[in-house]
Formats: sequence, structure tokens, C-alpha cells
Amino acid sequence: MGKGYKTLIDRSIELGAGDARLVPTKEIVFDDRSFLKCRFGCNRWGNYWTCPPNLALTPECFMDAFKKYDQSIFIKVSEPKLGQEIAVAIEKEAMLSHDCPFAFAMAMCVQCEECAFPEPCRYPHLARPSMDGYEVDIGKTLEPLGFKVEFDKKGKFLPAWYVMVLLD
Ligand code: SF4
Repeated sequence: MGKGYKTLIDRSIELGAGDARLVPTKEIVFDDRSFLKCRFGCNRWGNYWTCPPNLALTPECFMDAFKKYDQSIFIKVSEPKLGQEIAVAIEKEAMLSHDCPFAFAMAMCVQCEECAFPEPCRYPHLARPSMDGYEVDIGKTLEPLGFKVEFDKKGKFLPAWYVMVLLD
């Protein structure tokens, strides 16, 4: 595991992630049916800067950039806002300390109860696109990774959210 990736995984845990795994980008599964799920049935469609069709970067442009990444870190959290903050923090740390100038976080944006769209984004330094918006099949990608199931101190099952950081 090169380029300090292990450090980034440890940092994710320090920042509050329940688990984090290095995943070669060739193992990330895409399925354009994810886009159908965005378009039909998700109330974020058209209402968030970070969700389709407001991304201003087509899936084709995204895939051209995606092909240049070798590795990614998938980060598991029990709460989406924490996930977004950890993903952006890991993106920044990868850029500044681990020779990954194009590190890029992907996380559903939950910074505002209601997105400012179509007014300017309130927190552009935190806003990143959702994985589903670019057709990542999150379930199929996670299946072989065996992320552990977590419980709180009272033994209650903890819900899981996932974010990703692409690395050079
Ligand atoms: S930070 Fe707020 S305004 Fe910006 S994309 Fe996210 S929810 Fe919308």
C-alpha cells in the first residue's frame, strides 16, 4: 500500500469513520441503472447542486477523469454529514501530504437542510457530487469488501453510509 494510503485510512478512522478500505478503481462497479434511480424516485433530483441534472459535468466527462485514478478509499460512517466532512478532509490531506494533487471526494451533500439551488452554493468547499449521480453501483462495489456490521453501546444496529475519495 503506497503513497501513505494506510495513513489516510487510519486518519479516516481517527476522524470518526467506522471503517475504511482501499479499493482499486478497477473494482468500482458502475451501472447506468443507478441514474434511473436518481431520476425517478429521489427528491434530490434537480434540487441540489450536487445531484443530477445540476452537476454541469456529464457522466462521460466524469468517466474520462475517473479513468486517471488508480485507487480509492471507501469510508463507512454512521451519519451522512460526518461522512461528507471526513471525505473532504481526506481529500485535502491526500492533496497536501500524500502526493495526490487530484484527490477527489464523492459524498451526498447534506450540509443544508434545503439546498440553495438555484442560488449559489453556501459551502462550495464542502459540496461534492454523489456517487449515484455518476452511476456508481455502491451496493455491488461494497459487496466483496466485507465491511463490518456495527452496533452502538446498547447493542442497537448502526445504520451505514458510504463516501469515497478517488486517489491518484
Ligand atoms: S452545501 Fe448546501 S447549497 Fe451547497 S450543494 Fe450542499 S446543500 Fe446545496
